Amino acid sequence: MGVLWFGGNIYTMEKEGTAVEAVYTEEGVIKAVGTYEKLYHSYSAYIEREENLQGKTMLPGLVDSHLHIIGHGEKLLRLDLSQMKSAEEVVEALNNRTANLSEGEWLIGEGWNENQWQDPSIIHKEVLDSISPHNPMMLSRVCRHAILANTKAMELAGITEETSDPQGGIIVRDEFGETTGYFLDTAQELIKDAMPGVSQDYLEQVIKIATDDLMSKGLVGGHSEDLNYYGGFNKTYGAFKKAIDGENRKFKAHLLVHHEVMADMIEEGLGYLGGTEYVELGAVKIFSDGALGGRTAWLTEEYADEKGNKGVAIHNHEKLEEIVKEARRYELPIAVHAIGDQAVDAITDVIKKHPLTNGARDRIIHGQILNQHSLDMLKELPVVVDIQPSFVSSDFPWVIERIGDERLALSYAWKTMIREGVECAGGSDAPIEEVSPLLGIEAAVTRKSGIDHKVYCAEQCLSVFEAVKLYTLGSAYAINQEEARGKIATGFSADFTVLEEDIFQVNPETIHAITIAKTVIDGDIVYQNNPTLL
Ligand SMILES: [Zn+2]
Repeated sequence: MGVLWFGGNIYTMEKEGTAVEAVYTEEGVIKAVGTYEKLYHSYSAYIEREENLQGKTMLPGLVDSHLHIIGHGEKLLRLDLSQMKSAEEVVEALNNRTANLSEGEWLIGEGWNENQWQDPSIIHKEVLDSISPHNPMMLSRVCRHAILANTKAMELAGITEETSDPQGGIIVRDEFGETTGYFLDTAQELIKDAMPGVSQDYLEQVIKIATDDLMSKGLVGGHSEDLNYYGGFNKTYGAFKKAIDGENRKFKAHLLVHHEVMADMIEEGLGYLGGTEYVELGAVKIFSDGALGGRTAWLTEEYADEKGNKGVAIHNHEKLEEIVKEARRYELPIAVHAIGDQAVDAITDVIKKHPLTNGARDRIIHGQILNQHSLDMLKELPVVVDIQPSFVSSDFPWVIERIGDERLALSYAWKTMIREGVECAGGSDAPIEEVSPLLGIEAAVTRKSGIDHKVYCAEQCLSVFEAVKLYTLGSAYAINQEEARGKIATGFSADFTVLEEDIFQVNPETIHAITIAKTVIDGDIVYQNNPTLL
């Protein structure tokens, strides 16, 4: 028994502008596409339900090709104080949050910034104690170089009036020499060390919160990197299985496997595209360089704003090759963080020397700064580049100071890459950037800076079709699923993202504001904007 979807703009994404009137799905798979008349008559004996899209727009399900699901969940879980304009507002938010805390649970807030307050006095621990005498509290300043803690947190950390300042840190005291609850630099660790390590239950909770949010943003899946940071492969992978499979949450999680935990995966008898139906294992994650903000992305030429600095290679050539060789022993593809052109050159050299023989594809994550050689290598090799269009809005104009004008032509050069035939997939790198795929699509199309609202490198703007393709067929191609996902076509997964407005018709500058009407995974509606209509 199946479902007949009709009554909207159903874009198949096979070619620009290609649309169909209706789609018939059965057991999670698209059985047929065509006119309403034809499908209605062909499948009348099997149609269990009709889904009238009521003029909305249906796309193949959007997939984020690079994010960190647990980091995203933690961001959602923690109290965001970054927008607050006064200490009173912070206090009110904390008061609201304490109401939902269980016994002993830490209240963690992030991002307070007294420079945004009319009265920039730092909040004293006595104020925090009056809000929460029994639950420990830790509030990070926006810079992450300072925290506030209440007395309960200090007790748990064993901090008394006698505790002296650690090397490289300050426990701020008042004029009478008494602690104030304010901790700077390494002194923060005194409090942080007292926080409980993450349990599998906590990870499970975070993954549930994160994936529910991702589905509400129109995402049917995400390629995530988490497995090395929260207490090991088994614990983290187990938490994903419990949160997703254990709860029938149909989010398609594809997990990159950091090279440090590759052996743990092998030991479990798992490999590329192994795992469960909804929690699948992916390529081996390797870091090749740092990032542009701190001038650690690895460049062939020095930074324009720091003479002599070409950035940082995370591994020397031998080590990089060794890791890749180890991955190849198990026929595993690699997914390499490479932002600077030297980093891209280094890893594409190794890939060329140690190619995959099983048809899987290696991935270059970011690929922000290229030179002609790196571009040629990306064209030549069977690699996919995971790009994050939102970086344009966040990085321009300051990135021009880093790299100068000459290198701009092949930086964030997505139109060039696509035109030259480099396979690209689109992602957010959440929690670094906002997770919404619509924001990413808009950034790829408009290339507008979120800082000065100017357009940067307009010749690199993508069409809406190209941008949507990054998050549909692009993400599918990156994991060898291009014959099963990323299009609305017979035999493909019944994964859809339904939008209130037609993304191909609206002003591109308003794409981010389109409401997600429905998210559909394997034929099931997993998110609906207005639940009363269910
Ligand atoms: Zn990342």
